[in-house]
Amino acid sequence: MSSKSEMIRWSPRVSQQKILLLYEKDAKGIIDEELIDDIAFSFFVRCQDIITVTDASLGRVKCIRCGNLIFHKGKKEEILGCKNCLWETNWGTYLKSYQKKQLHGGGALDVFKNFIVKLPKARTPEEKMILIDQLIHEAHQWTDAKSQGPVFTRPAAVNIIKGKMKEVMLFLDQLSRSKKRKKSHDIWKKKLLTWDNYVKEHEKKEKK
Ligand SMILES: [Zn+2]
Repeated sequence: MSSKSEMIRWSPRVSQQKILLLYEKDAKGIIDEELIDDIAFSFFVRCQDIITVTDASLGRVKCIRCGNLIFHKGKKEEILGCKNCLWETNWGTYLKSYQKKQLHGGGALDVFKNFIVKLPKARTPEEKMILIDQLIHEAHQWTDAKSQGPVFTRPAAVNIIKGKMKEVMLFLDQLSRSKKRKKSHDIWKKKLLTWDNYVKEHEKKEKK
């Protein structure tokens, strides 16, 4: 079983260094098409993997050889066998392959799906740059029945850029930006404040 589990591979998160270089060039008005395409493609395959993993966690595993769907009930010893190409593993092995890798889409699943749909339609480097910029400035959304409006719990960037959550947040704060990339960052900061406010309100209510 272990040799088969080694075949489950996931695309890595993109390094901060690469994003840094992209934004430094972008801020100077340098259009590096190759770098934009490289990062856009890395995000594209990463987003695909996030969708695949999220589906798997909900009971639908995509066969890693042929893409055939295999349904399961979430028991670790349960055998996942593809009827099409005979690839086989068990749920425990599959689960282990993606755990602690920030591959679950959670409350940002639609954000990753959106990128997959839009990137192939982007033609110019600027169109691709806008999609990259939007993607790294997204957040996991959570709706609590008691709170007004959506609460954004954590940055989506953690799923696609290397580093711990605080490091990634700090990284995005410190990226050099041109004027036209400032707005997305400002909106992102506001979104993330909804979580801080939610926690504060919750604490106040508990003290009463
Ligand atoms: Zn198969």
